[in-house]
Amino acid sequence: MDTIKIGLFIKSLRKEKSLTQREVAEQLNVSEKTISKWETGKGFPEISLMLPLCKIFGISMNELLSGERLSEDQYIEKAEENITSLVKDKTTPRTKVVISTISCILAMLSSLAIIFIAAFSATQIWLRLVMIGIALIIMISNVSVILLVAVSTEIYECDKCGEKFTPTLSAYLLAPHTFNKRYLKCPCCGKKSWNKSHIRK
Ligand SMILES: [Zn+2]
Repeated sequence: MDTIKIGLFIKSLRKEKSLTQREVAEQLNVSEKTISKWETGKGFPEISLMLPLCKIFGISMNELLSGERLSEDQYIEKAEENITSLVKDKTTPRTKVVISTISCILAMLSSLAIIFIAAFSATQIWLRLVMIGIALIIMISNVSVILLVAVSTEIYECDKCGEKFTPTLSAYLLAPHTFNKRYLKCPCCGKKSWNKSHIRK
């Protein structure tokens, strides 16, 4: 995330609304210094303050994180970028899983919406097929993101020797599994067993 760019954006929005740093600070219940830190890129609004800040300036969270106003066609692209950088910035793997799941659900819903529009609109058949194609690509790419995050977050404990390991993506995908166990071959003792999954700390 480019905090300098976001800071300049916040500043220009504030000027646009002809508000002082103090007035914005008062509305958000933070100190004037905090606002000045944001505007100079030395700090960044914490999650609980982002929405109220967006409300004051009449922008979306996506625009705040991008540090600029977005046109409709930039919107999805930027949202993906922002979600990716949030995932990178956040420390706990648990948060990664939550964020990637949310982004996946959002992408699924938008893909379904596209398919729905394609199915019922009166446009030409090729255009509908293109729309369905795009929707499917969005879905597939999101499922793969989810899988990659899951693989990088989960570790498995060998039932035979107790060794902890991370399976390869293909082993992970092909293995039979329950909610918290996966049938994998242990790289340490080489035996196959039902291994318990743990979230990497
Ligand atoms: Zn083992």
